[in-house]
Amino acid sequence: MDTMKLNTTNHLLPHHHHHREKIVVVMGATGTGKSRLSIDLATNFSPSEIINSDKMQIYKGLSITTNKIPVHERSGIPHHLLDEFDSSEHELTPFDYRSLADETVSEIFSRNCLPVLVGGSNSLIYGFLTKELSSSDSLSLSSSSLDFFCSSAEEDGVSGELRYDCCFLWIDVALPVLKEYLSLRVDQMIDSGMFEELSKFYECQEEEDDEERTPVCRTGIRKSIGVPEFKRFFKLFPPGENNYWNQHYTNGNVLCTNGCIGTNGGTAVSSVVKSIRDGCFECGGGGGGGGVERRREMKMVFEEAVEAVKCNTYELAIRQIKKIERLRLIGWNIQKLDATEVFRAVLESDSGKSSDIWDKEIVEKSVKIVKKFLDE
Ligand code: ATP
Repeated sequence: MDTMKLNTTNHLLPHHHHHREKIVVVMGATGTGKSRLSIDLATNFSPSEIINSDKMQIYKGLSITTNKIPVHERSGIPHHLLDEFDSSEHELTPFDYRSLADETVSEIFSRNCLPVLVGGSNSLIYGFLTKELSSSDSLSLSSSSLDFFCSSAEEDGVSGELRYDCCFLWIDVALPVLKEYLSLRVDQMIDSGMFEELSKFYECQEEEDDEERTPVCRTGIRKSIGVPEFKRFFKLFPPGENNYWNQHYTNGNVLCTNGCIGTNGGTAVSSVVKSIRDGCFECGGGGGGGGVERRREMKMVFEEAVEAVKCNTYELAIRQIKKIERLRLIGWNIQKLDATEVFRAVLESDSGKSSDIWDKEIVEKSVKIVKKFLDE
């Protein structure tokens, strides 16, 4: 989606002491435009800095797969705890995140800037902002959620008390519309290099854990949606093993033998994906035993992986929304902004309309809310 140009005035932050210790938090399910809103807010309330609270984006690598905001879309706003840690070294715990985020906001406050926390991991947001984080919550970032998120509707004894003065914004999109949009977004991610990114990732993993040949999918960034889903594909069609495979990547062209041409002037990635989907990928499998059957299988396993990514992304969105509702129940004052019409317009390919509604319904309203919060 295009970045928004907004004509509202720039609300420069007053440098008074009582404005310190205030944090803006942008929440919402995956795909709802949190990154975009954080940039819109940061440019409206200058100087602001953004802190990531997505537990996959915190790690280095898999930028397309985990949907990290590209540098050219950051409008020069500093981003923290994004693309920073190596998950193969050790996995961050909510305690690690709490102290890292703490350090980061202190630095941001000391520069007299406004911290904008943005990301879909509500357990991280909770773990960072809650007054007390119990030691029973000391699970790894990607194993499971904090205690109270797991237990069934039992809000008793869970404190909604916060360590900072927070302004919570929630971008909400009606589920049927979000579902359709997420499916479209997965297709766009595949087109823009997700498959190539994953195949390179699997190739490196192979070198690391030799006996297994395929990554464990259990820790850190390996839990990102896309990695487990493509496991079967890369097991059956290992990226490092196949000569043709490497050739396709290095040439950027796909050499098809059965009459369909994969050279579409696009990138190597889209040609590879295209030729898999067209059923004409030349997969030798060592010894050149390719053939129609193998190509058919490749296409089938590929489409299954894409479907699984779509399905799991949607399920993630549902879980995220439930967690936000849970946080509201324990007393967090989370203000909901309805972006359904924005995404309806996106699905109708009406980008002018979607931009207009975004500006009016999401940006203008949240700027008003944040302004009031900062003036209080
Ligand atoms: P839990 O700890 O119960 O998983 P959470 O709120 O801490 O919940 P989420 O951020 O909802 O964690 O992420 C849960 C899972 O969703 C991750 O382990 C990962 O599989 C997937 N996921 C989350 N964010 C991303 C992302 N940006 N890209 C890909 N997959 C993601």
